[in-house]
Amino acid sequence: CGIIGILGSHEVSPQLVDALRRLEYRGYDSAGVATVDASGRLDRRRAVGKLVNLSDRLVHDPLPGHAGIGHTRWATHGAATEVNAHPHQSGRVAVVHNGIIENFRELRAGLADLGIQPESQTDTETVALWCAHHLGRGLTPLEAARATLAQLHGAFALAFLFQGEGDLMIAARRGSPLAIGHGTGEMYLGSDAVALAPFTDRITYLEDGDHAVLTRAGLQVWDAEGQQTHRPIARIDVGA
Ligand code: GLU
Repeated sequence: CGIIGILGSHEVSPQLVDALRRLEYRGYDSAGVATVDASGRLDRRRAVGKLVNLSDRLVHDPLPGHAGIGHTRWATHGAATEVNAHPHQSGRVAVVHNGIIENFRELRAGLADLGIQPESQTDTETVALWCAHHLGRGLTPLEAARATLAQLHGAFALAFLFQGEGDLMIAARRGSPLAIGHGTGEMYLGSDAVALAPFTDRITYLEDGDHAVLTRAGLQVWDAEGQQTHRPIARIDVGA
């Protein structure tokens, strides 16, 4: 339901939770964050219910790292449980998702053929599992994300975070909005610009079918045809 991503210069877990608070108005049943720490370790924390449950969890079990993604979930596939909460992680990749992966049953059947079992009931986990599978056969994060995106039907916004890649997020949108925020030596993504208002007023809106690579140095975007393209930066005023 709500997506946030930060390539920052400080601990991002508190910033991710703050940003998710700005998306609370959209409604949600659970929430979670994933980060890559200084050693490259990818890990996550999730909690059912209000964001305070997630922030309590983070107090007792902190999640270090300067790069991270966060999500507030409005369940469409699978009950509101911790196992079904995002980020979904498989091996070296974590994924947050808004929307619906329409062909998740076929994607699951394909995974079953490979002997890969999901642990959740969500459509989203199939994205993480397929991406991890592609990484496992030697693809780079960008190649693996592209191979995964090519398999997906439906309306979605997605953000990918990778183990060992503390300066990389991959984003994609088809049907659901996604905004990229430009900071000073920091980059952000969010399901709406309101979530990014505390960080920056310099926003790039991805267009339908785009996917993008974010690093602290900047943004690269490819369109629905796979052609590298330029999307402008707008200054927006959402009353931070
Ligand atoms: N379909 C996904 C799920 O049920 C994402 C829902 C959302 O947009 O929050 O987990």
